[in-house]
Amino acid sequence: MRIQSFRILACATAVALAVPLSAQQPAAPQGAGRQAAPPAARGAAPGAPKHEDTEVYEPVPPVVTPGTVDSAPPSDAIVLFDGKNLDQWVSVKDKSAAGWTLADGVMTVNKAAGSIETKRKFKNYQIHLEWRIPANITGTDQARGNSGLFLASTGPGDAGYELQILDNYNSKTYVNGQAGSVYKQSIPLANPNRKPGEWQTYDVIWTAPTFNADGSLKTPAFVTAFFNGVLVQNHFQLQGETVYVGKPAYDKPFDGAPIKLQAHGDRSEPISFRNIWVRELN
Ligand code: MG
Repeated sequence: MRIQSFRILACATAVALAVPLSAQQPAAPQGAGRQAAPPAARGAAPGAPKHEDTEVYEPVPPVVTPGTVDSAPPSDAIVLFDGKNLDQWVSVKDKSAAGWTLADGVMTVNKAAGSIETKRKFKNYQIHLEWRIPANITGTDQARGNSGLFLASTGPGDAGYELQILDNYNSKTYVNGQAGSVYKQSIPLANPNRKPGEWQTYDVIWTAPTFNADGSLKTPAFVTAFFNGVLVQNHFQLQGETVYVGKPAYDKPFDGAPIKLQAHGDRSEPISFRNIWVRELN
């Protein structure tokens, strides 16, 4: 009985392996054996399509060495925070040194110091970021662990394009304002929140908007976002900058912008960040 089960399993495995393999190979003509002759030898008509016609050899993708785990920065990443210092960041309000708390390899929002943003400007990029709502979080609705990843910071305060950060693990708010939403523009496709006290990840692909010389919109912004590995935004086309009241609009042209982390004014306990890196896609 055992041997029979093994045979069935082996047979099923062979079939399973054969399926993806055959999917990568051109279908053989009916009746063709292993020794099928190449098209020329078979007398293919001159000018007939050849497999070489659709095989591209340049440009060769650059070699990138991945991190030891997928959350670690690959070899071509710009590390924005590795737990050692806040050197890549400044205060949004006056561009002085970022005043958030650094301890045990983690930076924690200092609400009195306000939001921080990168010294560098970015256009299109891939970002990895980890955040943690404190286990002792209090508050409700939007006043519970509120922060935000501004994919482009276009000015002081909350100016820019915000991917919301919030604790809605077991806390209700409007769905286009929960974690993983493009704030007030796009409801996340799922709610993969981990409970407060656990680290959570964002992996985001940002395509910045572009503008014509007269300031009018040339191409809109797009965002694809994974939240704890779950797709929550699938190439969403933004309607403009994030606004709290009113309708979004592309009314502040820019060419490259810092990435901003929000110090939200609610009274709940401040959240923390670690392991932030970016790969430019320009
Ligand atoms: Mg926010």
